[in-house]
Amino acid sequence: MTSDPDTLSGAPHWELLGEHPRRLADVTLDLNHLLHRAQPWKRVGILDPEDLVALSEEGTLEGRVEVLLEARPVRHEERPVARVSGFCRATLRLSCVRCLVEFSAPIETEIDALFASGRDPAAKNKNWRVEEDVEYLPDGMLEIRHLVEEALLLALPMNPVCVSECAGLCAGCGADLNLTPCTCRESAPQGPFAALKSWR
Ligand SMILES: [Zn+2]
Ligand SMILES: [Zn+2]
Repeated sequence: MTSDPDTLSGAPHWELLGEHPRRLADVTLDLNHLLHRAQPWKRVGILDPEDLVALSEEGTLEGRVEVLLEARPVRHEERPVARVSGFCRATLRLSCVRCLVEFSAPIETEIDALFASGRDPAAKNKNWRVEEDVEYLPDGMLEIRHLVEEALLLALPMNPVCVSECAGLCAGCGADLNLTPCTCRESAPQGPFAALKSWR
């Protein structure tokens, strides 16, 4: 096991997970504790599909979610906060928005966020300025599975497509144009607008 404090910077080192990675489902980072530590807090491990309920609603998780994380105290606008950084990756079965076929989508994303314990001082001062770069947790407890789930949800494609050149379904005959040619033209009645169809 390495003690290099910069292990999690740069490219993700997935090999740190090892042969038998630990489950992170019940791991919580205590921010109040972290802010008094000299050493960064580190966790590498996995989450299982059942640990990520909101993500599972977006697609079927194929296997485990892998996580590399570290947290260290930093100062942000004169206040002590926790900088949490790392990587997570998963594979989800998503439905293609063009052809409706399910496909496996590898999702890998970086985490880099600031957290603080307590209430947002901007809110206490009845100041409407929302401090978007720091997330305040009233009890100072950061659930790792929640953090990872949020990061993966943000990394999901808005309009997933199976392959970038997916031809989709024909709006007329419903044919999957990746597999079969459209049959609309053969069955379409000849009329004044028939010529326009070929424009689409
Ligand atoms: Zn498709
Ligand atoms: Zn068609």
